[in-house]
Amino acid sequence: MTQATTDATLSYDEALAAYDPVMGLEVHVELGTKTKMFCGCATTFGAEPNSQVCPVCLGLPGALPVVNEKGVEGAIRIGLALNCEIAQWCRFARKNYFYPDMPKNFQTSQYDEPISYDGWLDVELEDGTVYRVEIERAHMEEDTGKSLHVGGSTGRIHGATHSLVDYNRAGIPLIEIVTKPMVGAGERAPEIARAYVATLRDLIKALGVSDVKMEQGSMRCDVNLSLMPKGSNTFGTRSETKNVNSLRSVERAVRYEIQRHAAVLQSGGAVTQETRHWHEDTGITTAGREKSDAEDYRYFPEPDLVPIAPSRESVEALRATLPEPPAARRKRLQSAWGYSDLEMRDVVNAGLVELIDETVTAGASPAGARKWWSGEIARRANGEGTDVPSYAAQLGVTPAHVVELESLVTAGRLNDSMARQVWEGVLGGEGAPTAVADARGLELVQDTGALDAAVEKVIAANADVAQKVRDGKVQAAGALIGQVMKEMKGQADAAAVRELILAKLT
Ligand code: ADP
Ligand code: MG
Ligand code: ZN
Repeated sequence: MTQATTDATLSYDEALAAYDPVMGLEVHVELGTKTKMFCGCATTFGAEPNSQVCPVCLGLPGALPVVNEKGVEGAIRIGLALNCEIAQWCRFARKNYFYPDMPKNFQTSQYDEPISYDGWLDVELEDGTVYRVEIERAHMEEDTGKSLHVGGSTGRIHGATHSLVDYNRAGIPLIEIVTKPMVGAGERAPEIARAYVATLRDLIKALGVSDVKMEQGSMRCDVNLSLMPKGSNTFGTRSETKNVNSLRSVERAVRYEIQRHAAVLQSGGAVTQETRHWHEDTGITTAGREKSDAEDYRYFPEPDLVPIAPSRESVEALRATLPEPPAARRKRLQSAWGYSDLEMRDVVNAGLVELIDETVTAGASPAGARKWWSGEIARRANGEGTDVPSYAAQLGVTPAHVVELESLVTAGRLNDSMARQVWEGVLGGEGAPTAVADARGLELVQDTGALDAAVEKVIAANADVAQKVRDGKVQAAGALIGQVMKEMKGQADAAAVRELILAKLT
């Protein structure tokens, strides 16, 4: 058993001065089909262990698999969205190896006949630069079960007393999307890797074929990296960092591996071709198993499944179901909403595009939708360790609530600070905006008599300030407005108060 040791690293700048990084990303996406890829078992996440299994996905002798048509459709739609060619004819292949969470002792996958190949995906970086990622292939396979190592302190097999296996995940359809080696990224390699995975996630989410939740493992990323000395065109030896399961980790893992490879090469050493484990807490990778390209999985065509031969008509029919690409949609919405680049970026990063779109469609102004979904609720969601859409769903707060709140403001019933109080009530589960405003007695005083009396009272009590305003020092009116608002217990429209004061004094 090799102990985890900390490898030497070179500073990022020094590494980039001497070497050019080459990256290859392998992303696994679990399709959200109701049933598994080769049997009728359910795929519900978080079900009781081993409650969603059958002879096929348990690999019992004599069981015969049948291809899930929805799984193939999902694979083709992903391939099309990635601008791939779709195979006229292809087969599944057995990838033979032993692992306790894989009861058949082979994984049904695709090898030299992937369903889609030779595509690309344009990735836009924060500063607007577009980097084209070439896609090698996107093939179909099945997920494995899950091992649970019990008795140790870390949950890893090392130090555990026994292990449990849950086969619920075994046989869930997976699509593996493999990029061609990405060259020319230079110092932006970590940023490009992250942007690629984020773009891919958004695209697949828009297709509706997977929930692509990296934290739940329905999207997982392996990072291959090597370095070439500057000026060379010959690829170096790669490492393959497994299961890098957040966008931030993808960026950090690329950066770390660049620094680690550089230190090895700089000291005259040779990089070992191996898999590496990513450590989220420390931000480093440690050696896994050595892996050569010639690794013999003894792939051969799966004899129990018929070949897949999608007709060109069926492929075109699926192409017609592709949604507008998320990047294009974002551009269109930004211009429709009149948001600045910065505003749009914040909204995208906070995952608010859908909510705002629904809210605007339901009748709110784009500015109002952005304001209400990104203020107090974002602060609270953050405190709960979640995002606004999930938090809003949890609270039962909807676009209709925002529309209602905004209409109370435009109708002159609430001023901005009252609207904020109402929104807090809505978030606190007190009900819809009108109900909250009623229950809390929040309403701008429309009674001009009461307002007039309050203004008179404040002017009389602050004769010196009032005189300053009369003498032309208009900004002195601020103090008077504040006092009138206090008199009115906040239930007056500050702009109307200001107007009234100035009318009386100037
Ligand atoms: P494996 O079966 O070893 O995972 P794959 O073909 O599935 O191999 O994926 C290999 C990935 O590594 C691809 O994304 C490929 O572009 C990338 N890759 C191949 N060679 C290199 C290299 N020298 N440096 C960096 N990435 C590489
Ligand atoms: Mg691979
Ligand atoms: Zn099954």
